[in-house]
Amino acid sequence: MPVRFEYRTFRAAFRQPLATAHGVWSEREGVFVRLTAETGRSALGEIAPLPAWGSEPLAAALAFCTALPAMLDEAAVRAVPPTLPCCRFALETAWDALQRPDDPVPVRQLPLAALLPAGPAAVEAATRAAARGFTTMKWKVGVGDDAAERALLPHVLAALPAGGRLRLDANGAWDLAEARLWLQACEGRPIEFIEQPLPVGREQPVLELATAFATRLALDESVAHEADLHRWLDFGWPGIYVLKPALAGSPRGILKLIADYEAEVVFSSAFETAVGARAALLVAARANLAGRALGFGTIGCFADERLNLPEPGPTLSTKWLARLAPGPLWELSSPVPPTA
Ligand SMILES: [Mg+2]
Repeated sequence: MPVRFEYRTFRAAFRQPLATAHGVWSEREGVFVRLTAETGRSALGEIAPLPAWGSEPLAAALAFCTALPAMLDEAAVRAVPPTLPCCRFALETAWDALQRPDDPVPVRQLPLAALLPAGPAAVEAATRAAARGFTTMKWKVGVGDDAAERALLPHVLAALPAGGRLRLDANGAWDLAEARLWLQACEGRPIEFIEQPLPVGREQPVLELATAFATRLALDESVAHEADLHRWLDFGWPGIYVLKPALAGSPRGILKLIADYEAEVVFSSAFETAVGARAALLVAARANLAGRALGFGTIGCFADERLNLPEPGPTLSTKWLARLAPGPLWELSSPVPPTA
């Protein structure tokens, strides 16, 4: 049965501008899609592109939405091209929420990692996160002076609780020499893994690092495209895959791919509002994970609280997640596409 399709744009300021290896970032733009059945029931999906991670630009997502007919059937929803991964994610998750609202989510308690800011503020943040019960923490590195960041490592580790583990995320900012120095510094320490040590495209060096050191490596930006993920899976990357469902395309396709290859995966957020974050967490809840903490430390990142998913704390109950109702996000978004 076809459903009615509508879309609206949103622009959301972050609570604090974010310093990343890609620069300072102060707001997020995206598109909400709404599917409404004949019964009047509706479901939202979120398109929140990050072209720096290889997704379509916002303009391409808007052009796609503008060209869609007012009524959609399942074939149209499943036929969104792979070149528009964020549109695919939004339409598929909205469709499934509308058509299969009672689709059971496996009952699980999923651990979450706390996200630590770059630089010395990480030490204080790790102390606070430990007090809240987090045992896995992720620290953004590759932002400031490299040697100064490495000198901070023992202090960040000292703030972890007993049995705690630290993930480092370089966002591809290191060169080979820096990556080697970090891997030497991590030797024998409770480092769960290092995420994206080298830029996308440095494939041979990252493979050499993965086999030369005991600390595990993870790929994030390198596997953001479904095609690249497939390529690394086929090749047999010996490390971990960080997947951002909201940027990765079809949730169905991604879940099948990682099950087929028995890939070791950490699911991660990409600064989504409550709509996209909940949908991305539901993808993670349906995957067969090996107990690694989810990387959803960006929950609560928006200044307008109504856009944020409630903070789940150090453990996420999938029952809680399934019960969460979306807030008035459609009403907060704008029916007029931005002209800029
Ligand atoms: Mg990352």
